[in-house]
Parts: sequence; structure tokens; C-alpha cells
Amino acid sequence: MIRPVPTVAAMEAYALADLGPPGAVSLAQNESHLPPSPAALEAGTAALAQGRLYPDPDWTELRAAIAETHGLDPAAILCGAGSMELIGAAIRSHAGPGDAVLRTAHGYPFVATAAQQAGATIQVVPEPGLTVSVDAMLDAGTRGTRLAVLCNPGNPTGTRIPNAEVVRLREALPDTVLLLVDQAYGEFDDQDHRPVFDLLARGDTMVTRSLSKAHALAGARVGWALVPPAIATSMRKLLNPNNVAAASQAMAAASMRDAGHVAHIVAETAALRDATAARLRTLGLDVPEAHANFLLIRFGDAERAARADAALRAAGLILRPAGGLPDALRATIGPPASMDRLVATLEALP
Ligand SMILES: *Cc1c(COP(=O)(O)O)cnc(C)c1O
Repeated sequence: MIRPVPTVAAMEAYALADLGPPGAVSLAQNESHLPPSPAALEAGTAALAQGRLYPDPDWTELRAAIAETHGLDPAAILCGAGSMELIGAAIRSHAGPGDAVLRTAHGYPFVATAAQQAGATIQVVPEPGLTVSVDAMLDAGTRGTRLAVLCNPGNPTGTRIPNAEVVRLREALPDTVLLLVDQAYGEFDDQDHRPVFDLLARGDTMVTRSLSKAHALAGARVGWALVPPAIATSMRKLLNPNNVAAASQAMAAASMRDAGHVAHIVAETAALRDATAARLRTLGLDVPEAHANFLLIRFGDAERAARADAALRAAGLILRPAGGLPDALRATIGPPASMDRLVATLEALP
């Protein structure tokens, strides 16, 4: 009989979003409803013509574009097939059987999957008031903790903590704990990120970013990480060589250099998000202030949330259940007509 290794046999497959029947509008994956930069499309098309060649294994152009845009050292950047790949490699290279990975109650569920792949255990830290608490994270740390993962802004909460709090967390954690700051929604968070980027110099902190959200390139699968050299060396042993397709590298680099387009996506999305949140609040729904491209909608109890989900599905809108919050659904900011339908459907709910 063929058997998988015990860590794999024991784990659940990662739960992807349910996208509903064909023709339904997915508001389940936090994709951008606006298109990517025209410059990215042009660069990607040109790269396809060179498709017989392997991609640049060192992401040279893309790293240069990221470094220029964010004022960083290109040597400190790693690129991945989505930031997911980089988060997975960081966890698998720094936690194993007997080790613990700290994650917050409503953080990115893939962190738990990667920890299971590594045979490590997960420590879940509560998020009082749906917001990460640095004190709760510090209270939870045990001797076995090897990694602490902080998603800021959070998903599915959409809330954020000040970057000064991230710095305080880092300074109070033991230097044997790798702090991973997942900034998949960093572009939607208008605070200064320099204090977090500057933690890189300590050698015990890394930051991940994604091109799937604010850059509208989810289909290209590109993410990047700011990583201290020793950690990068370990992570690269686990990454597939040539991990980011040539067309994806070209699209991502061009999008990085088109800062105006990204700013446009962020501004349009945030305006529609805040207008939709205000309309939902007038219906008596609890919608926390969001710093991302989605809203968390709280219905008071699980039964009302389930009824809302059924009504929205009947109206052709697929939202995502919010991990650990049975009374809530998460809605990606979609096209304005979908937001109108979302509000109208919830307004008509008995
Ligand atoms: C979307 C998302 C990611 C990663 O997305 P990629 O497409 O793999 O770059 C990571 N963390 C959070 C919290 C996300 O929502």
C-alpha cells in the first residue's frame, strides 16, 4: 500500500473559496474588480514571445522595480509565485516537529496549512475587538515558538494596528522568534511602512507583499518578501528554481513602475468600500472600519449570517465565510453594480 508521510496524512487540504455556480459574481477572493496596468499587459505580452526560455531565476528586473518603488535594497528581496509561496517557505524552513507557529485568531489560514506541512503546531492568539493585540501575542509565546505571524491589515477583519505596535512586538519578542509581517493589503493601509521595513536590519524579521490585490495581478501569481540574508538563504532551498513565470515577472515589474495605476486602484476601491460600508451600517449591520479591499459584515448571529449568505447566493453574489466568525461574511469590493446588489439584497432581508 502506498502511504503519504504522517504529517501529510494528518492534515486537511487548504480550503479554497467557494466561487459559486458559473455566472455568479465572486466577491470571495479579494480580487481587484479593476484591470491591471496597461503597461503590465504590454510587458507580459512581450515576454510571452520569449516563452521558449526559462524565466530569470533571480527576478532581477522585478527586484529592481520593487526596490526602486519602495526604497529598498534589491538584494534583500525574494520573489514567489504569490506571497503564499514565500509565507510557506518561511514557515517550512524555520519550524518543524515540536516547534510552534504563532498566529492570531483571524489571521491568514494558509499559515496553519504551512505549519501542518512542516509538522509544527499552531498557537492561536485571540484578537479582542477583532484587532490584533500585541500584548496577547506576547503573552502566548512559549519556549517552542519559532515563528510569529502577524497579518496587518488583517484578513478577514480588515482592521490594522499602528506600525509602532509592530515594532513594539518585535522588540519584546525573543530574537529566536522569526516575526513574519504579512502585508498583503499594505497598499490599502496609508500609514508609513518604513518603521516595519527598517526592522529587516535586525535579522529576525521579514515582511511579505502581494501583487494579487492592489496591483490586480492575482492571476499572474506574484508576491515578494523583504528578508534578512540568512533567512533568505534557507528559504531559497525550499523554493522551486524558476518559480515565477517570465510573463508574470514582466507584468509585475511593469506594474511596480506604474505607481499611478496602483494608486488609482487603491483610491477607487477605498472610496467604493467606504461608501458601501456606510450604506450597510444604515441597515443596522456592524461593519468594522476596513483598511483593505474588502469589508467584514457582521450580522449579529450565525443564523442571520447564514440567511444572508443564502439570499446573496440566490442574487448571484458569492461572499466568503469569515474564518472563526460564524456571525459574519467577508465581501470583496467588486464593481459598483455588485455593491448596489449587495446592499439591496441585505436591505430586503427579513
Ligand atoms: C491574498 C492574501 C495573501 C497572498 O496572496 P498571494 O496571491 O499568494 O500573493 C497573503 N495573505 C493574506 C492575508 C491574503 O489575503
